[in-house]
Amino acid sequence: MMFTPAELLEINTLLIPENKIVILTHYNPDGDAIGSSLGLKHYLRQKGIEANVVVPNDFPKFLKWMPEAKKAIIAEYKRKLAFEIIQSADVIFCLDFNSPSRIGLLGDWLINAKGKKILIDHHQQPESFDFVYSDTVIPATCQMVYHFIEAMDDEKLVNHDIAECLYTGIMTDTGGFRFRSTSATTHRIIANLIEKGADPSMITSNTWDTNTVSRLHLLALILGRIEVVHEGKVAVLYLTRKELQEYGFQKGDTEGFVNYGLSILGVKMAAFFMEDLYDDFIKISFRSKDDVDVNQFSRKYFSGGGHINAAGGKSYESLQGTIETFKKRIEEERL
Ligand code: 5GP
Ligand code: MN
Repeated sequence: MMFTPAELLEINTLLIPENKIVILTHYNPDGDAIGSSLGLKHYLRQKGIEANVVVPNDFPKFLKWMPEAKKAIIAEYKRKLAFEIIQSADVIFCLDFNSPSRIGLLGDWLINAKGKKILIDHHQQPESFDFVYSDTVIPATCQMVYHFIEAMDDEKLVNHDIAECLYTGIMTDTGGFRFRSTSATTHRIIANLIEKGADPSMITSNTWDTNTVSRLHLLALILGRIEVVHEGKVAVLYLTRKELQEYGFQKGDTEGFVNYGLSILGVKMAAFFMEDLYDDFIKISFRSKDDVDVNQFSRKYFSGGGHINAAGGKSYESLQGTIETFKKRIEEERL
């Protein structure tokens, strides 16, 4: 639900140039995380406020074309600066995550920070913040930032920079306006953003036409061994650390691979298992269709979460062990 009118008034009194404002988003930032954070930053600038965007770790090159993406402070590289900014902030916007555990090393700093914490997020089961705008039906946090701007009666302030950033996050989090929660309202907002200067073909090509040959080779490898189990309902994909190294893996290279599993006729759930490049754990991406709830599944078995049809998790077993465990769990759950 949108902030109440009383909350909006209070937030409005906090949004003044004298206050230090920081915008945080989740670990391994994606298009919606970066788009919503930068979109909000550009909106605050229109109100005469300079905010800092702080992200826990680096993000893919295909998101760095967005206006001022390169000015985001990446905590894994600038730890001290990131700490000081969060520590001294009067207002902390928390975008596209629902719990301090989702922002890596920033989590403890956020918990101990004195600033007012304002959550704008569309993930399930948000934890407590001072002001909460949570709505799991909305396909992208970028759309929620737009609704926030509307609720502040500031649509007239939406400019080219805001439009580009918000368009990008809505496009990526809806899988190109395809996923279930994409609504008529989403498209109306997209239409407004185009009128304000967002260029669909430029944004699509900057974000998605960015394959490298090595990424395509990695994709070929993974597609060559997709396995379909559980009576054709579950697709399994994986990559080992050694393969990532051999193919010169760059951050973001495996983005979207899991969707190929879900595109198979009859498949209701796809799981993509990837050994971390440095640490001994397996990162898992889940995608599903209809009422197969991968948020619950990942919370229950793989210390993760997300949305009903898109979630992530982790495992500390070996890659093969994790895949075996996964197959047992889907049998138990009778997905
Ligand atoms: P992806 O598979 O693209 O990494 O993530 C899919 C969705 O699940 C995203 O909305 C992301 O924020 C969420 N997600 C990914 N990994 C985790 C995790 O480890 N824990 C939780 N709670 N959510 C995750
Ligand atoms: Mn999102």
